[in-house]
Amino acid sequence: MILENYSSDKRATKLVVLNSNLVVVGGGLSGVCAAITAARAGLKVVLIQDRPVLGGNASSEVRLWSLGATSHMGNNNRWSREGGLINEILLENLKRNKEGNPLIFDTVLLEKVYEEKNITLLLNTAVYEVEKGDDKKIKSVTGFCSQNSTTYTATAPLFCDASGDGIVAFMSGASFRMGAESKEEFDEGFAPNLEDYGNLLGHSLYFYTKDLGRPVSYTAPSFAIKNAEELPRIKNYQLGDHGCKLWWVEHGGRLDTIHQSEDIKFELWKVVYGIWDYVKNSGKYPEAANLTLEWVGTIPGKRESRRFEGDYMLAQKDIVEQRDHYDAVAFGGWAMDLHPADGIYSKHNSCTQWHGKGVYSIPYRCYYSKDLDNLFLAGRIISASHVAFGSSRVMLTCAHGAQAVGKAASICLEQNCLPRDLSTKEKIKELQLALNRDGQSIPRLEIPDNEDLVQQAVVGTSSTFQFKGFNPGNDWQTLTFGTAQLLPLKADEYYSFEFEVEAEEGTSVEVQLKSSIACTHFTPDHIIDSQIFQLKKGKQKLVFQTTKAQKTEHYAYCCIMKNEKVKVRLSDERVTGLMTVQNKVNKAVSNYGRQDPPAEIAVDSFEFWTPERRPAGKNLALTLDRPIAAFGADNLLNGQLRPESHGKTNAWVAAMDDETPEVKLKWETPVDLKTIKLFFDCDFDHALETTLMGHPEEVIPFVVADYRIKDGSGNILKEVTGNYQAINTIELEKVTRTDSLTFEFAKKEENIPVSLFKISVY
Ligand SMILES: Cc1cc2nc3c(=O)[nH]c(=O)nc-3n(C[C@H](O)[C@H](O)[C@H](O)COP(=O)(O)OP(=O)(O)OC[C@H]3O[C@@H](n4cnc5c(N)ncnc54)[C@H](O)[C@@H]3O)c2cc1C
Repeated sequence: MILENYSSDKRATKLVVLNSNLVVVGGGLSGVCAAITAARAGLKVVLIQDRPVLGGNASSEVRLWSLGATSHMGNNNRWSREGGLINEILLENLKRNKEGNPLIFDTVLLEKVYEEKNITLLLNTAVYEVEKGDDKKIKSVTGFCSQNSTTYTATAPLFCDASGDGIVAFMSGASFRMGAESKEEFDEGFAPNLEDYGNLLGHSLYFYTKDLGRPVSYTAPSFAIKNAEELPRIKNYQLGDHGCKLWWVEHGGRLDTIHQSEDIKFELWKVVYGIWDYVKNSGKYPEAANLTLEWVGTIPGKRESRRFEGDYMLAQKDIVEQRDHYDAVAFGGWAMDLHPADGIYSKHNSCTQWHGKGVYSIPYRCYYSKDLDNLFLAGRIISASHVAFGSSRVMLTCAHGAQAVGKAASICLEQNCLPRDLSTKEKIKELQLALNRDGQSIPRLEIPDNEDLVQQAVVGTSSTFQFKGFNPGNDWQTLTFGTAQLLPLKADEYYSFEFEVEAEEGTSVEVQLKSSIACTHFTPDHIIDSQIFQLKKGKQKLVFQTTKAQKTEHYAYCCIMKNEKVKVRLSDERVTGLMTVQNKVNKAVSNYGRQDPPAEIAVDSFEFWTPERRPAGKNLALTLDRPIAAFGADNLLNGQLRPESHGKTNAWVAAMDDETPEVKLKWETPVDLKTIKLFFDCDFDHALETTLMGHPEEVIPFVVADYRIKDGSGNILKEVTGNYQAINTIELEKVTRTDSLTFEFAKKEENIPVSLFKISVY
């Protein structure tokens, strides 16, 4: 029994002091990725999250699907899903949760953090105080957990603010901005008109519904709005919409999105319950009779609050022009996506999105405060203008950058230096190399890895895929939209493409060969050649012999243009680095087949050619007059992990009929090795939304599931079965000396050849 008599002094709550190498505040996807990356690099990390679950806006408390450069596969950013740790998390979530249950995604994240012994996780702990050692350095942060009535003070040489509102950066005095810049400051045509459009993006709150199979009545709380039918956007509501499909239920952009957050939430509750009252009781939705509310958000998703200034501020031109930066460490590719501050009450469209032609890189200088010596920034608070933030704020972009922060922290600690010290042209290369070893895929960055023993090996393979066309399958596709086969074509070469089409009646169809003007993107903004074919009724072959060639090696689009009276034959074969796209509409990401912004916005006009998700999106059954040799073993050595716009598949692909594909590495003299890394094709084109949206498979079909690694004497060093991850890191029990390694892969899919992007040996 505990008996304490009255004390006239105040009592203090229990105090726990934690010393670590890095303190990460905020457990959204950014905080989680920064913490795990640093922990895996050997740092002791304290991760402090004020909510009971991890994931922030991606958690079951808010239920947003995490997105990034693939933009629901609705833009021209081919093979652009974020790499490294966040991809590992997405593939794990796919394996367990292809249906997109937000509760299961919580457990995927929690397990990932729980398994890192270097992380001390404090849930339900809100940081409310910062102590500075001197003017420029943070010494500790303090938070309180109401669940165990404990105050935690966490000290470390390095801090990362991933809290969304920037509680640490704010309290330690860092320069920040809130609201939109003028057009002039960064020469941003898309900077909003403050009076009319507003300054800030608001919060949103969602609900899920459930069919009980019998009529359910509903009485709204007295605070629910009574005039939901007058909301300009109520016409967007479709019965059965759950969670983030209701993203337009937005409010608060005219308020202080930090200090008035509770007021904003309450207004959103009024709106949500008012909408449901309207649905259930207005008589306009008779099919809603059996529906009930299953879940309503209790904390709002916050879109925007403070943005902190680093040594560089990302701006519109970085995105539109895909400017390269010497210190690129991450990439983005979501549209610049701004919302009217009046949210659900606004007369404007719920959002305005303008896409770039390709992915843009994000400089390391955006990820630390320009004022504080030991403070990293991660997530939506990084150093970006309001317009650029409109793109960089999506969670996979945030997580990707946070991986760079976690890795930078490990280098800072190892070399006893500060975040800014890594931003020099020399130092940054160490960080970029370390990130790329973990699969970050920084765009257009080639950094030789001299320690990788593969660079000294001779590579042999059992076979190499030569692309001469796709064998015809049984499916045909009506040309409701222009459809294109994306192919890595050489410069100055002429090709002949043969398709099989079927016309409903005599008609004509145009075939175009398109490519991109710049090597930085996949947008087909340039017609190289075209021909119109007269078709008779019925099936026929169509041969497109090009008479003009592209000037540089590039992925090109062989497009059969729209004609609803014509069908084209498809193939069941799928191959790494080859895919089809359509000139189709995807309203969810403001893709109406093309974008044509007003000139003053200073964003490009172009067409969208986008993929369909499996099981659709089959390749065209086409035949070439000569093979395309783009799948050789040399690709395993170039360090790249995904196809790139300048016409490189970057993959070794085995022949389709090779049932026992093998790669052999041979060294002139024996080498000592301890670590082997394999990088498989996890289909970086497929957007792996975490929540709500289901996916066709639990394992990406291009990933090799089963394989064996043997040394020069034929000893099995490792046997793997059931792999579903992109990166396999094999740590051998002891250093092994050998003059060769053989990788024996099992082919699992009849119509998909085995492929691999990279092998590393250290
Ligand atoms: C309604 C809405 C729709 C959006 N749509 C999408 C979308 O479809 N896909 C997409 O990818 N992105 C979307 N975004 C953007 C994206 O969700 C945010 O920009 C993103 O969550 C930012 O990630 P973050 O890690 O910085 O912040 P968060 O995800 O907010 O994570 C920060 C975490 O820090 C915690 N925290 C805050 N203060 C403290 C403190 N004092 N102490 C400890 N912890 C603290 C928070 O509780 C939170 O869990 C949307 C945002 C909103 C609000």
